[in-house]
Amino acid sequence: MQNSPEQAPGDCLFCKREIIGQSFFSSAKFSAIYNIAPVLPGHSLIIPNEHYESLLGLSDPDLGDMMIFARKVTLVLKTVFRCEAFDWSIQDGIAAGQTVPHVHMHIVPRKPLDMPEGNEWYRKITSNEQQMADSQHRERLNKKEYDAITAMLCEASLSHNA
Ligand SMILES: [Zn+2]
Repeated sequence: MQNSPEQAPGDCLFCKREIIGQSFFSSAKFSAIYNIAPVLPGHSLIIPNEHYESLLGLSDPDLGDMMIFARKVTLVLKTVFRCEAFDWSIQDGIAAGQTVPHVHMHIVPRKPLDMPEGNEWYRKITSNEQQMADSQHRERLNKKEYDAITAMLCEASLSHNA
């Protein structure tokens, strides 16, 4: 299967340079960025560097590479946030809760009793998606906090070659 990136809408949040510039880990095809409004500490996003709206648009090798890349990012998060459990989630399509039309996977490190109800994370991810589309009304880390976490993750990534 030979797929090409799709034409990105000019305002795609994840195609904007400043977003890619914030990645703490990247390969030729994928980047990991720290979520500016994490639902739990360590909440990160994996995105293809090229614009694909749906996971269905990725070629077989790219889909495999995305999962392998996500596993490397998870190992970095495991080291930095000292956790053993992770939620991996992809909202593919508007009805599934996708708000930014550029493929992205949420990786959320989990610890025992980190949320009053264990399954609450899904509602939080959905509301986080809404916040991504509505950047005016996001609760977010301040730039100093964000840059400090990104720098820490960057350093931890050095031992995991992309
Ligand atoms: Zn895009």
